[in-house]
Amino acid sequence: MQVAKKLIHDKLSPLYCKQEIESISKLIFEKILGLSRLQVHLNQHETISPANLTQITEIVNRLVQFEPIQYILGDTEFYGLTLKVNPSVLIPRPETEELVDWIIHDYPPINPAILDIGTGSGCIPIALSKNLPGATVEGWDISTEALTVARENAKMNQVNVEFIYTDILNLNFTAEQQKYDIIVSNPPYVMASEQPSMPKNVIEYEPHVALFVPDTDPLIFYSTIADLAINQLKPGGKLYFEINEQFGNETANLLSIKGFTNITVRKDINGKVRMARADWDNSEVIPICR
Ligand code: GLN
Repeated sequence: MQVAKKLIHDKLSPLYCKQEIESISKLIFEKILGLSRLQVHLNQHETISPANLTQITEIVNRLVQFEPIQYILGDTEFYGLTLKVNPSVLIPRPETEELVDWIIHDYPPINPAILDIGTGSGCIPIALSKNLPGATVEGWDISTEALTVARENAKMNQVNVEFIYTDILNLNFTAEQQKYDIIVSNPPYVMASEQPSMPKNVIEYEPHVALFVPDTDPLIFYSTIADLAINQLKPGGKLYFEINEQFGNETANLLSIKGFTNITVRKDINGKVRMARADWDNSEVIPICR
């Protein structure tokens, strides 16, 4: 293992920081050798077969091109679950785990009906379904490739989530039966102008449709989803968003103008404004039809 460790370190140290190399190495060893994290730790002095060393070299060569390790290995961990990922879905982020954790710790009603908009890998609805027994959970996305990944992930994690193709920005919704207790979304929120400052591994490999919004209308998804929520949240229902750190106040204002109450904006573990929650209690507001 020492030879492989040196190889990984030598090739990656000009490009990645020490902690990144450390965690990437662990992931590679776990995957290629089929060991647990503890076994990797305990078997540091075992020799690695030439075939495994070749596999590791191939992985390292892709990492040198900044391909994300999660796409190379084909899976990642999210809220304690293993999820498949490929370049048609955003790699689930720790801040989205925080959003899921917020929902779970808010003690939703018994058997809640939940909708996740822009579901990608299905990380949010799958983690919610796993942790809120009795919940009825839906995930919507505009990408059929993403929906395929999400369905595989639900199956792999033995949860029943309904994944539906939806183009949220072109949805004609009418005042339907109010059916959800919770609507959640981590929609695209990075402004096109932020692109030059973003790392290569994100820009060159992750799906732009899941990331970017026009600078001219950065809250387009929040506004559209809030309108949908006005129609489809039950009274007392809650809306949860992951947000762009630059738009905490704007998102809160938008929700307030639309009649949501109890609006809370929360920071993530890195101290960045990253999440918003709002209640829908206002049965007097006339639903908006689009
Ligand atoms: N958090 C992601 C990033 O920083 C963006 C996710 C999104 O646009 N919804 O790349």
